[in-house]
Amino acid sequence: MNTVNVKAFGTPAKDADLKPMNIARRNVTPNDVEIDILYCGVCHSDLHTARNDWGGTIYPAVPGHEIIGRVTKIGNEVTKFKVGDLVGVGCLVDSCQTCSSCKQDLEQYCLNGFTGTYNGNDKHLGGQTFGGYSEKVIVRQEFVLSIPENLDIAATAPLLCAGITTWSPLKHWNVKAGSKVAVVGLGGLGHMAIKLAKGLGASVTLFSRTPGKIQDALDLGADEVVISTDADQMKAVQGKFDLIIDTVPSIHDVNPYVATLSISGTLVIVGYLGGLEPVLNTVPLILGRKSVAGSVIGGIAETQEMLDFCGKHNIVSDIEVIKIQDINEAYERMLKSDVKYRFVIDMASL
Ligand code: NAP
Ligand code: ZN
Repeated sequence: MNTVNVKAFGTPAKDADLKPMNIARRNVTPNDVEIDILYCGVCHSDLHTARNDWGGTIYPAVPGHEIIGRVTKIGNEVTKFKVGDLVGVGCLVDSCQTCSSCKQDLEQYCLNGFTGTYNGNDKHLGGQTFGGYSEKVIVRQEFVLSIPENLDIAATAPLLCAGITTWSPLKHWNVKAGSKVAVVGLGGLGHMAIKLAKGLGASVTLFSRTPGKIQDALDLGADEVVISTDADQMKAVQGKFDLIIDTVPSIHDVNPYVATLSISGTLVIVGYLGGLEPVLNTVPLILGRKSVAGSVIGGIAETQEMLDFCGKHNIVSDIEVIKIQDINEAYERMLKSDVKYRFVIDMASL
């Protein structure tokens, strides 16, 4: 298959810094859209992948799945987009389109495995897919999103992952006016969870370890902040929440949060992947019909719904724009929870 050589920024190994590199992209096929990347958000999953935290990273790795850009070329069967359109690409670039999940617009749960925007199996060229820390990307039209033109372009990028990952559980668990929602962790996902839950009319509480973030959380729209390390503050919210979205990226004790769920409430984990320690106590689950659940990103139709909602309600991310050359420092700051509240790379710097 014909390929084009594209500039990118990635890492050759688990313990290496990210640096400039060249990657091959396929030429536009009849169903493809070519996108000139303007901005790319920096998700904690980029860092997990670059450093092989989850195992399974194939090197070289080029992260980035919060992509915003303009269409520069389309294949002759493309009907959804034209050259010049402002578009986005999130965490998915392909799925089988035929299994029961895909047929229900749940491509993120494709039974044959979705193709991740990076570190996925490239169906066209073989090898791994490469993400948005690059000058352009070629994606089949079904996985390209329309971006509302009224929003700040750079600040829209994080909606493609942080936005949809928190929107999907809010919708699945039917959050609406009057719902009581809590969010654990004020980072990229957490700050979008606050804005989107408020947009849906819920009252929102933030659980944070960081007293220095209290005013920011209130400014973002939270009604209340609970410092999770303060036993008295935790006790004061026992039995309160219908839904808790837990964005903490590393292993942590979820039992104290279960105690703050109302009867029939759900704690949905979107951050940490793996076994829980200390173990999950089932007593409060059984005696309160409570659930501990998980959720991964969202489907393409749902992502478009979220983007349109954000366009209508003027919701974007709070961002710090960086140059691609600053990405290694940005990862170190993310590990220290020193992000307000999403880094977005200006790809012109590449
Ligand atoms: P982030 O910007 O680094 O935010 C994480 C926040 O969690 C921090 O700001 C911090 O908030 C809190 N935190 C960090 N370490 C903690 C610890 N040890 N104990 C308690 N709280 C801690 O990360 P992100 O980009 O939002 O991503 C969060 C996680 O979600 C990552 O693991 C990422 O891979 C995952 N993710 C999952 C999906 C999905 O589809 N399920 C999609 C995207 C990302 P405070 O300072 O307020 O405590
Ligand atoms: Zn992400």
